Amino acid sequence: MTDDFKKCVDFHGHICGGLVFGYKAANAALEWLKENRAQDEELVAIVENDACGVDAVQVLTGCTFGKGNFIYKDYGKLAFTFFSRKTGQGVRISPKFRPNPSMSEEQKELFEKQRNNIATQEELARLEALKTKKAFEILGKPVDELFLITPAKVPIPEKARIEPSTQCTRCGEPAMSTKMETIDGKKVCQGCLDGNN
Ligand SMILES: [Zn+2]
Ligand SMILES: [Zn+2]
Repeated sequence: MTDDFKKCVDFHGHICGGLVFGYKAANAALEWLKENRAQDEELVAIVENDACGVDAVQVLTGCTFGKGNFIYKDYGKLAFTFFSRKTGQGVRISPKFRPNPSMSEEQKELFEKQRNNIATQEELARLEALKTKKAFEILGKPVDELFLITPAKVPIPEKARIEPSTQCTRCGEPAMSTKMETIDGKKVCQGCLDGNN
């Protein structure tokens, strides 16, 4: 296991096909862009899913949720777009291959047992072993077999901005002004509008 792959596994918590998929995609992107991990906002990632692989994307590219250079689109697609702010180049990486294709009968059976909380320790271990085997199979696959790699068609997203906060007139908590709505002349946060406060 390479050091960078180990970092992804440590961050994510387990080895799985999805993580490997994100790992391969992020590495392919860095190579295509001729870039290294972003310390700051040199790179930007747009991810179209919130599955396991996006953890590897954050670890490897330095595009992280907290820095604002990691943009999540809830499309349910295993596709990623990466940009370099230095060169203005962008690359889209989309799957040719599904990391979790139809499971074997054995795996399906074990998976059902796990879901219903009736799997024995041995069965759980067996399921883990099957998942790990699958993950390493994907790890060994050539990038061309996994992905379609094309220049990005969308423009580079704008840099993350820090906006001043205003106190919400309903819950009293401060929120970024630009994210609030004005109702009857009063600033209201999205949490209150969603009924979460
Ligand atoms: Zn996972
Ligand atoms: Zn509020």
